[in-house]
Amino acid sequence: MAIAWRCRGTAVWSALVTADATKKILVIQPLRPEALRLFEARRDVRFEIVSDFSPDNLLCHVGDVDAITIRDAQLPQSVLARAPQLKVISRHGVGFDNIPIDYCTARGIPVTVVGDVNAISVAEQTLFLLLAAARGGTQLDAAVRRGDFAARSRIVGVELHGRVLLIIGFGRIGREVATRARAFGMTVRVFDPHIERRNYPDTSFVDDLGDGLAEAQVVSLHVPLSPSTRNLIGGSELARMPAGAIVINTARGGIVDETALLAAVKSGRIRAAGLDTFVTEPLPPENPLIAEERIVLSPHSAALTEECLIAMGVATARNALAGLDGALDPQLVVNRTVLSEARRALQ
Ligand code: NAD
Repeated sequence: MAIAWRCRGTAVWSALVTADATKKILVIQPLRPEALRLFEARRDVRFEIVSDFSPDNLLCHVGDVDAITIRDAQLPQSVLARAPQLKVISRHGVGFDNIPIDYCTARGIPVTVVGDVNAISVAEQTLFLLLAAARGGTQLDAAVRRGDFAARSRIVGVELHGRVLLIIGFGRIGREVATRARAFGMTVRVFDPHIERRNYPDTSFVDDLGDGLAEAQVVSLHVPLSPSTRNLIGGSELARMPAGAIVINTARGGIVDETALLAAVKSGRIRAAGLDTFVTEPLPPENPLIAEERIVLSPHSAALTEECLIAMGVATARNALAGLDGALDPQLVVNRTVLSEARRALQ
């Protein structure tokens, strides 16, 4: 009761709540109707949608929750600590840096991601940013709109064909980017120390990031943000790349040092860049990246296509239900050790 007064009116309850609906799913941030229908089809489940995801408001809703679905909002440990019967957290996406994983693991709560359903959309956005960066896409568009047709002789692009692309992180998205880049006639190299190379016999891997950067005319990042990938591409890495190179980051803000990248673009060493993700999101209006027209920006929208939103929503709902049913696909659980511990406890 002490916190009830802080609950804001942002919750919508599922329409038909039967007495059998003993399991509560908290839907933090919207899911597509196709996803909610999976919950509605279950008599044992009720759900509550919360669009005010401030920690204060979440605290009002988690006390009796069995499963949580979440997009990119922060889910602090202080909120989870008030959810004693929580059995699964289902992420609408593949990154999970908004969730305190170590805490969830310590409590035995599986955290799921949606697997490869967003890989194509993110890979296409990567190519969109790369093409726009290589061809001065946003500058040309702005020039035509202000009546400056003569910009066609000033803003001259480069071809992707024949250029060396270094893909850093060869998971679901990195591999889709490779397929598309090869179709453009690019020479693809890969840096991923964790991948089983023999599964990709036709791929050219580099052993050392520095060596890969030294020949990379384009670098595209597809690694998770972690202590080992924070500022993976900083001033010295940018300096190793050939003059006129292009940098694309659709992975996470913080993997590329934004200050160093901006300086390298301003100096002309780096020709252009394309960024979908930023250290601070939303990108503050005073951020100097905004004033640099050779950096193409998108608002962390790489996965937000019609097809992908439905697929991600459905996968998120399925994972939440699978968590309640004890039927999780281990491939989609990021802290897999909790599953083996749960199995051991049953034996
Ligand atoms: P994934 O787990 O399939 O692949 C990640 C790959 O990175 C793995 O192969 C792993 O071995 C590799 N890796 C990890 N650390 C590395 C390092 N230090 N150096 C080189 N390689 C390393 O993930 P994915 O589905 O391909 O997604 C990649 C990232 O893209 C996600 O972590 C997420 O942050 C980001 N993402 C962004 C959006 C968006 O909207 N912009 C959408 C989806 C995913």
